[in-house]
Amino acid sequence: MANLIDGKQVSAAVKEQVRLETEKLVQESGKRPGLAVVIVGNNPASRVYVNNKKKACETVGFQSFEYTLPEDTTQEELLELVQTLNSDSNVNGILVQLPVPPQIDDKAIINAISAEKDVDAFHPENVGRIMIGDYAFLPCTPAGVMELIDSTGVEISGKKCVVIGRSNIVGKPMAMLLLHRSGTVTICHSRTQDLASVTREADILVAAVGKANFVTADMVKDGAVVIDVGMNRLENGKLCGDVDFAQVEPKASWITPVPGGVGPMTIAMLMKNTLTAFKQQNQLA
Ligand code: NAP
Repeated sequence: MANLIDGKQVSAAVKEQVRLETEKLVQESGKRPGLAVVIVGNNPASRVYVNNKKKACETVGFQSFEYTLPEDTTQEELLELVQTLNSDSNVNGILVQLPVPPQIDDKAIINAISAEKDVDAFHPENVGRIMIGDYAFLPCTPAGVMELIDSTGVEISGKKCVVIGRSNIVGKPMAMLLLHRSGTVTICHSRTQDLASVTREADILVAAVGKANFVTADMVKDGAVVIDVGMNRLENGKLCGDVDFAQVEPKASWITPVPGGVGPMTIAMLMKNTLTAFKQQNQLA
């Protein structure tokens, strides 16, 4: 039987650290970290994410600035708002909730966000810095996964790590972070042949596929650490991971549940990044 990795608990600890440091820095500097969240249109899932981010800002003592723009917002209008936020010294972090409507090129928006305020770490400058291991911000979801692995006490160095998924947001940066910690890393994707034979080698298996119950017991090595990034909405409205939890849990040594695993970490790491941005922009230690 596996030990459960409690994302709620680990994320609460990260947020508490951020809250304590924020309180101290506000007293010392008279300034308060600020996060601007921009949402375009009425995507209900995006609305939930944005509300959760606002709530987290309150918890840690940040100012949050929400901009809700109509579905038919043009790219120029959104770019104009991003420029305004780039030059607003009360705003330390800028997050444009993705996806944006089809008339807007998300790459153009990401590129327009000042790299110092890019707390999602999606800007090419920040992506490049992650590649060379010289970064200020880590992308929130992979950074959250690293915190979860570290919470188990399992050493990454020298271990076989397999990441299923190669997206720019999760899979690729995830692999890079594991590599920086001296894991021996394999990235799998939809063209990988005999996927199960690769994943069965993994001491640490990270699933970021976007398919409910995709990882089955025969794909997992006995005693593996299994991290489930997937967030799939079933027809009955329930949230379900990429890992078939009931099957895999008896084989794993550690496993994340869905919900309550990686999900809460993403927002906690966003708070951490915003605090880092605030410190850098105000030359605070
Ligand atoms: P994505 O962009 O759709 O990428 C999915 C990856 O899975 C792709 O690289 C794809 O390969 C690979 N894949 C698809 N079918 C496969 C198969 N049969 N065998 C092996 N690989 C396969 O998704 P994403 O943005 O990375 O997100 C992945 C999951 O994580 C989703 O469920 C998403 O909701 C969730 N997520 C959660 C959080 C969180 O906070 N917990 C944050 C972000 C994402 P190809 O590249 O070859 O197509």
